[in-house]
Amino acid sequence: MEKEVRVRFAPSPTGPFHIGGARSALFNYLLAKKSKGKLILRIEDTDLERSSRESEENIKAALRWLGLDWDEGIDVGGPHAPYRQTERLELYRQYAQQLLAAGQAYYCYCTDEELEAERQSLLKEGKMPRYMGRCRDLSPEQQAAFESEGRKPTIRFRVPEHQEIAVRDLVRGTVVFDSDNIGDFVIMKSDGLPTYNFAVVIDDHAMNITHVIRAEEHLSNTPRQCLIYDALNFPQPVFGHISLILGKDHTKMSKRHGATSVDQYRRLGYLPEAIVNFLALLGWAPPGEQEIFSKDELIAAFSMDRVAKNPAVFDLDKLNWIDQHYIRRLSVEEFYELAKPHLREKGYITGRETGKELEWLQRVTATAQEHVAYGAQIPAAVSLYFEDEFPLEDEEAKAVLCDPAVPAVMENFLRELAKAEPEDAPSVKAVFKTVQKATGLKGKAVFMPVRVALTGKQHGPELAAIIPLLGEKRCRKRIEASLAKAGVKVNF
Ligand code: GLU
Repeated sequence: MEKEVRVRFAPSPTGPFHIGGARSALFNYLLAKKSKGKLILRIEDTDLERSSRESEENIKAALRWLGLDWDEGIDVGGPHAPYRQTERLELYRQYAQQLLAAGQAYYCYCTDEELEAERQSLLKEGKMPRYMGRCRDLSPEQQAAFESEGRKPTIRFRVPEHQEIAVRDLVRGTVVFDSDNIGDFVIMKSDGLPTYNFAVVIDDHAMNITHVIRAEEHLSNTPRQCLIYDALNFPQPVFGHISLILGKDHTKMSKRHGATSVDQYRRLGYLPEAIVNFLALLGWAPPGEQEIFSKDELIAAFSMDRVAKNPAVFDLDKLNWIDQHYIRRLSVEEFYELAKPHLREKGYITGRETGKELEWLQRVTATAQEHVAYGAQIPAAVSLYFEDEFPLEDEEAKAVLCDPAVPAVMENFLRELAKAEPEDAPSVKAVFKTVQKATGLKGKAVFMPVRVALTGKQHGPELAAIIPLLGEKRCRKRIEASLAKAGVKVNF
């Protein structure tokens, strides 16, 4: 029987949850689902200074928001609990002792200053800085002397000399490293905490991980991890290092390129389905031309052999295009829910509206559904329905209202509007027809002044959509105010 595929996402909770992390989580999720295997969520929090529970909570909330549920791990439990590394310290200590006993690791008493001095002198000689093994073969007496000075040792892994380390990688093929370029590295810090490279191996082994899919930046760590696997006689998992994400200018994606955390996109009102769809295409090439994928379609189509070696470019226009696609499929009610936090932030709503008021708000926001790419764009797209105070946009707009025919147009328009109280587009059109007849004017000569008077602008959504939503009273007020701004005297 084929071995069950077990993959893990193992974030360090040290700050905002980056979209690159979400992409690693997604690829692991897709591989797990595709192979009917398991996804494990493990929290790698051994960097006590930089790790926080708040960041862990953010990561979990973001994964849940994206719909990337895990089968085992933090919060949900499982046979390999606990899933937070700081709760597994005893295990790392035991293995470190085992390596010490076998002579595959040793205590190092070098201070930070000594290590830095070594680094500087290697750099001066034009050599690659690495630990040169000063504490490799200390006698028990030398060790005791250091101990009596009060030095707290780290534990270093004894890297074998002249060894080729071959990393089998699903994305990059076999990548070979030379052990002579790797100095003996720390596996346990002087405070008794494991380093990333050590804990990750112990846990991936303990949790029966079969595939380690993670970001390319960890590729250079992998030979160190392979050495630990071998030293402990652990079978190695298969690795897959996914390419970097670059900004459109082909430099590494960073804050300069705009929002980089999942939470920023959530707060901007992007839809989780769109983010998942977009992230999947960031480094994975679907077999055909299709670009819009539901989660189930992604699971069906996904495979690691279509994960690209070359860097993925984060194209915000593409994300917006995908998000717009998903936005258009929302119902009026769902679209309003998306709009709500943004409208509230702008002060347009309280968010507690019900009945007729809610119905009106839903109709208003629906006018923006075809025009926005993400939620935060909604307030600007519907501002005309909320802001009764507006300037005339320019001299040209003002001139439209100063035409001698305008008072008659407005008088007729307001009279007909009061009579008809149009609720829909055809009845608005009927009102305009009547005004045209009464004034003897052609279309534009009637529409344009009404448009400018109602919105301050010469362009915008259909009047037939705007007028029923504003209603007769607000139309009248706006027309009076705009005419006053243009200095046009009327006597309705
Ligand atoms: N804790 C590591 C990180 O967040 C995980 C790397 C790995 O998946 O091995 O970068």
